[in-house]
Amino acid sequence: MKSPSVKKRRGFLAVLTRGGIAAALAGIFGAAAVRTKNTNTVWQIDPAKCTQCGLCATSCVLSLSAVKCVHRYAMCGYCNLCFGFFRPDANALTSAAENQVCPTGAIKRTFVEDPYFEYTINEPLCIGCSKCVKGCTAFGNGSLYLQIRHDRCVQCNSCAIARVCPSGAISRIPSDKPYIIKGEERKS
Ligand code: SF4
Ligand code: SF4
Ligand code: SF4
Repeated sequence: MKSPSVKKRRGFLAVLTRGGIAAALAGIFGAAAVRTKNTNTVWQIDPAKCTQCGLCATSCVLSLSAVKCVHRYAMCGYCNLCFGFFRPDANALTSAAENQVCPTGAIKRTFVEDPYFEYTINEPLCIGCSKCVKGCTAFGNGSLYLQIRHDRCVQCNSCAIARVCPSGAISRIPSDKPYIIKGEERKS
C-alpha cells in the first residue's frame, strides 16, 4: 500500500503535469492561430534532430531570437540535481546565479516536495541559447527543448536559422499542425 506521502506527491505532480501541459498548449496554439492565419506553413524545429549547437540564439533575423526553450512537463523527472538548471561545476544546489547554466536566469526552480523540484521557463528572458537543453538532454530526461515561437517569428521566406542549422532540424510544416512537441515527433 502506498504511503500518504507518495500518494500526495503523485497527485500533486499529476496536477502540475496536467496544468503545465494545458497552460503551455493554450499559449502555444492561441498564439499560433494569431500568427499563422494568413499562411499555409510555418517554420518549426524538429526536437529529435536538434543537436543544441547554439546557433538559434544568434542566427535569427530578430535581435532576440524567435526560438525559445520549452518544457515538456510530462517528460520531466522533477529532479533535485537538474543539469538543465545547474552548471556541471556548481558549488552547491542553490539558485545562486553562479550555479546556474542559464546565462539570463530564465529558469525558475521551485521546491515541490522532498526531493522534487519544478523548473519553469520565463520566456521573455530566454535567448534560445540551448545550454539548458544540452544539459537536460545529455544527463536528464530530455524534457527541455527548443522551438520557434509563432507569436515572435516573422515567417521569413528563407529562415536564417534553417540556412545555418547543421542538423537540418528546421523546416516548414502545415500551419494547422504548428507545433512539434518533444516526444511526439513521430506522430506529427
Ligand atoms: S539556458 Fe538558454 S535556452 Fe535555456 S532558458 Fe536559459 S536562455 Fe533559454
Ligand atoms: S523565420 Fe525569420 S524570424 Fe522566424 S525563426 Fe527563422 S529567421 Fe527567425
Ligand atoms: S541551429 Fe539547429 S541544431 Fe542548432 S540549436 Fe538551432 S535547431 Fe538546434
